[in-house]
Amino acid sequence: MSVIIDGKSLAKEIRENMKQEAEKLKEQGIVPHLAVIMVGNNDASKVYVRNKSKACDEIGIEFKEYLLPENTKQNELLDLIKKLNKDKSVNGILLQSPIPKPLDIQEAFNTISKEKDVDGFNPYNVGNLCIGQDGFIPCTPLGIMKMFEKYNIEIDGKKVAIIGRSNIVGKPMAQCMLSKNATVTICHSRTKELKKEVKDADIIIAAAGKRNIVTEDMVKDGAVIIDVGMNRNEEGKLCGDVEFEKLINKASYITPVPGGVGPMTIAMLTANVIKAAKLQNNI
Ligand code: NAP
Repeated sequence: MSVIIDGKSLAKEIRENMKQEAEKLKEQGIVPHLAVIMVGNNDASKVYVRNKSKACDEIGIEFKEYLLPENTKQNELLDLIKKLNKDKSVNGILLQSPIPKPLDIQEAFNTISKEKDVDGFNPYNVGNLCIGQDGFIPCTPLGIMKMFEKYNIEIDGKKVAIIGRSNIVGKPMAQCMLSKNATVTICHSRTKELKKEVKDADIIIAAAGKRNIVTEDMVKDGAVIIDVGMNRNEEGKLCGDVEFEKLINKASYITPVPGGVGPMTIAMLTANVIKAAKLQNNI
């Protein structure tokens, strides 16, 4: 039977630590502050933003939402980011993706000041991660690394297969694993033989957003499985990218969906906001 990695309770533990950190900052007159920008009317984004807001409230991080209409122009979005960059009371800026098609999200990420880039999507922070320097690491890979740390799962020298190469999950995840001396294979939609690439892996990180893309026959006995995917099954229930029920006896460690990576992503966002508030106040 696999060990089921309990992201929910680890996330709670991290939020409790962050609450203490926020209290210490408050004693010094600093209230950590996250500004979140949402453009248009995306129902899934509303849920994510609500969950982020709840976590910030619990910790004592001031949370301010900026809702821009669907027809927002690129320069209007950039102007808001520049205004928030200059606002000394704001420690972190998050642009919720997706944003409406005509807008250039990467240009918007590039505009977020590197010191307030709590999502780690600014090229400066992306570069720092690649060369192993301190900076902001995207919250999902950062949360996954915390899981490995908490459960003492060895990464050094292991073979890691990552399914997905997005800038948000797959690529930064690969850098994190590389920084811990893993041998990393990154798979994507053009990968010719996915099963062959994954079968040999000691650690599988599935982030394709495709339900059941990781099947039992693709996994070697004792592999560690991290399921990042968030999909809906026929009944509308949240599920991951992995055949969880079939792999629960084959993997050594496995994350559930829900209750695995998702809560960790939000907890690490709060950790990045606290980090930003400390850095900006030379603490
Ligand atoms: P994304 O930008 O759509 O990227 C998906 C990646 O999967 C792409 O690189 C794509 O390849 C690859 N892919 C798609 N179909 C594939 C296939 N059949 N075989 C191999 N690779 C395939 O998505 P994302 O933002 O990285 O998110 C991935 C999933 O994680 C989604 O379900 C998302 O909701 C979830 N997510 C969860 C959290 C969390 O906190 N739990 C956080 C972020 C994302 P190409 O590059 O070739 O298109």
